[in-house]
Amino acid sequence: MSKKYDLFVIGGGSGGVAHSRRAAQYGAKVAVAEHGPLGGTCVNVGCVPKKVMWYTAGHAHHFAHAADYGFDVEVREHDWSRLKQRRDAYVHRLNGIYEKLLDDSGVDYLAGSAHFVDAHTVAVGDTEYQAERIVIATGGRPGMPDIPGAELGITSDGFFQLEERPARVLVVGSGYIAVELAGVFNGLGSATQVLVRKEGVIRDFDAMLGSELIKAMRDNGIAVETLVIPRSLEKTNDGIVLHAELGRSFGPVDCVLWAIGRDPNTAGLELANAGIQTGRSGTIPVDDYQQTNVEHIFALGDVTGRAALTPVAIAAGRRLADRLFGDMTGRYLDYRLIPSVVFSHPPIGTVGLTEAEARAEHGDAVKVYTSAFTPMYYALGKLKQRSSMKLITTGDDERVVGCHIIGDGADEMLQGFAVAIRMGATKADFDDTVAIHPTSAEELVTMR
Ligand code: FAD
Ligand code: NDP
Repeated sequence: MSKKYDLFVIGGGSGGVAHSRRAAQYGAKVAVAEHGPLGGTCVNVGCVPKKVMWYTAGHAHHFAHAADYGFDVEVREHDWSRLKQRRDAYVHRLNGIYEKLLDDSGVDYLAGSAHFVDAHTVAVGDTEYQAERIVIATGGRPGMPDIPGAELGITSDGFFQLEERPARVLVVGSGYIAVELAGVFNGLGSATQVLVRKEGVIRDFDAMLGSELIKAMRDNGIAVETLVIPRSLEKTNDGIVLHAELGRSFGPVDCVLWAIGRDPNTAGLELANAGIQTGRSGTIPVDDYQQTNVEHIFALGDVTGRAALTPVAIAAGRRLADRLFGDMTGRYLDYRLIPSVVFSHPPIGTVGLTEAEARAEHGDAVKVYTSAFTPMYYALGKLKQRSSMKLITTGDDERVVGCHIIGDGADEMLQGFAVAIRMGATKADFDDTVAIHPTSAEELVTMR
């Protein structure tokens, strides 16, 4: 006889683990199936190892400025492979912590690949499980272009397997991963070229961020080539060459990294057995309450194709558990005003409407405040890196609806401002807040 659960969760990543633990806290009998290491993308091949690499490149940046502050420092070598061992050990520790968290919460962890048998039955290997409710939290995987030789390149997953730093790198793509990993390679000394297929980078963000970032990338030594449409990769004696449209070619290099978006993990789930519909590119469409077209089956996190960020998957998962098992009727995640940081060099923090979105929505009621400056950190040296900020307001009361920052510290600066903006802060509230001096953040409360 198959085992019965109140809730069966497919995917032990950020969203699946958060949801199942919260549901178990309310007394539900819960199982989570996971066919990879626990923690999912974020812990294993995403935020966590990426942030370690970002810190590493940040060290290189500080060493470059050490002499300005009177230090006599010579950096001879960076041992990528030693760093990788330490990073992998940290990730491994986190895998163990995730397993313990599930265990402590009373959630059954089933190691293996899950698929639907019918709308109330999930199989993991040869064992079938019955569940009253099922949640799909299977995340996504890196996309690869369908061109000859594409497999000669790696994706972000392959980046985290690199044992050594490649000396020459082509990064293809213009989103979060392209700019973040290009910054790491470049910071640690690889000759780095970024190939974008349109005119800029991070084009979904406020235009100021993209234009400032591309300038900073070039100032820092990254070659950014625009309007490059890759056609094939070729292995030559001297490395990999990328051939693009219009007879352009790039390389030879030691590593080509594809960072052209991610695809949802839905292929092996046999969704049709449960009557679950998929949307564009295999994502699972859900309503405001994370519900699929089948009443008792829900989806959350990257697999839904909405705001593919760890805290979003976690928040959606916890709210869904509050509603289904915690009697919090009507509780759901509001996807507006989600703050986000791009761990580029320099970092970007952004929340709310872009200027273009605000103008399209609010027309002449929009007023924009900007500031661009060189942080004091660079006052003593020749190498300077600018910071830029933009506040977007609407209406007579100048309610702040967007805040966009690029520059050192933007990553840690944004969270508090996101709270204020969510609470409906106006420009006057910003102005009434006493500045903290000397910081970059104070610019946000002193804009004229
Ligand atoms: P995942 O965490 O991907 O978990 C899904 C899990 O389901 C996986 O463990 C998978 O193995 C499992 N699974 C899939 N199919 C099955 C099956 N059939 N049976 C059993 N198990 C299955 N977000 C941030 O907020 N900040 C960052 O700095 C950040 N950096 C990132 C850097 C990189 C390089 C990448 C790739 C992503 C980054 N993200 C970041 C995004 C973040 O990792 C994801 O948004 C987040 O992990 C999504 O959580 P999830 O629960 O939806 O999916
Ligand atoms: P993104 O969606 O951010 O960017 C991918 C970009 O690549 C597209 O927007 C497109 O930009 C370009 N592109 C698409 N197809 C091609 C192609 N065939 N050839 C060349 N370029 C192409 O995807 P990422 O892979 O960078 O990241 C996936 C998601 O993971 C992010 O959206 C984010 O949600 C999450 N993430 C979050 C991070 C964070 O919070 N710091 C860090 C990393 C990932 P264009 O139209 O301009 O060409």
